[in-house]
Amino acid sequence: MTERLSAQGMVMLGKANMDEFAMGSSTENSAYQVTANPWDLARVPGGSSGGSAAAVSAGQAVVSLGSDTGGSIRQPASFCGIVGLKPTYGLISRYGLVAYASSLDQIGPFGRTVEDAAILLGGIAGHDVKDATSLKVDVPADYTAFLKPDLKGIKVGVINETFGEGLDGEVKGAVEAAIAQLQALGAEVQEISCPRFRYGLPTYYIIAPSEASANLARYDGVKYGFRKADASNLLDMYKTTRAEGFGAEVKRRIMIGTYTLSAGYYDAYYLKAQKVRTLIKQDFETAFESVDVLVCPTSPTTAFKAGEKTADPISMYLSDLMTIPVNLAGLPGLSLPCGFDAQGLPIGLQIIGNVLREDQVLRVAHAYEQSTEWHKKSPSLA
Ligand code: GLN
Repeated sequence: MTERLSAQGMVMLGKANMDEFAMGSSTENSAYQVTANPWDLARVPGGSSGGSAAAVSAGQAVVSLGSDTGGSIRQPASFCGIVGLKPTYGLISRYGLVAYASSLDQIGPFGRTVEDAAILLGGIAGHDVKDATSLKVDVPADYTAFLKPDLKGIKVGVINETFGEGLDGEVKGAVEAAIAQLQALGAEVQEISCPRFRYGLPTYYIIAPSEASANLARYDGVKYGFRKADASNLLDMYKTTRAEGFGAEVKRRIMIGTYTLSAGYYDAYYLKAQKVRTLIKQDFETAFESVDVLVCPTSPTTAFKAGEKTADPISMYLSDLMTIPVNLAGLPGLSLPCGFDAQGLPIGLQIIGNVLREDQVLRVAHAYEQSTEWHKKSPSLA
């Protein structure tokens, strides 16, 4: 991907921090350092692509790339007050990306504006013979061609189920105001029910660890990466390499995934999760029969304090409640700023499109952005 961008004249500044193997929602699982949120240095930037989001938010880079398996582009974009887009599954080549959960992983752009994200998307989209899951489809020559100032004729569905328990009041208020603004721009807004949306999180936490446990099996000290050198025999080398080479969260996922794939539990967990995944996808398919895009909050809260959720994995996982179903269905989803809470922390609006309808997602996002001032604000250190 970086080769493709370099060939188009883009200057690469470096690699950004992230949660180890992209597992996390705060970048606190990084094997390197902790990344701060540019809006409040005591808070997390989100994750797992927190470094990429913080770099753009702080003005260190104009655009950046992240990967999104369950929300890792959109949730940090929301926490850092920038635009982040997870494209349709298969639109972007994953050649060179370390696999986390292969049926969900997708690379996508971060930018300060929708236009910047659209330009970067154009630079990375398209078929690649080196990725068997990459779609053989015609990609628009220029995604910015879809950016228009109004939303006449666009049908927007508001996902009912995302406004329930656990949603922060200020996030709710900002998202509701954004929906009213979409209407003012000419969109036809209606409420939509996705009854199985709430099963997304438990389904994901079976499918993603299952795939991760298989993908990470290759990190045995022989083929890739870290190797514990002074082991006494081969088995000892495998064991100590994996014990020392993976952090606590990655080990947790490998153990969960190995369990859900094991004989006797496969049908009860993995197979069942795959069936629920199909039902979640069907809810979206039904919704897109009557609307062009769906909207909801990106995350139930604004950026939380560093250390606040590290001892409680489930509360950390809840941060991706509203982004995960989009990955399970393979759809494009974008987060953009739609306000600030009383503490001055950014709030994100999520716009979800049908398969390969990045054009509509970008159009709605751009029209909204240009009619507001949120994207013009930057953290005081930027
Ligand atoms: N936070 C989610 C997880 O930990 C999503 C991560 C991602 O999208 N890479 O799995």
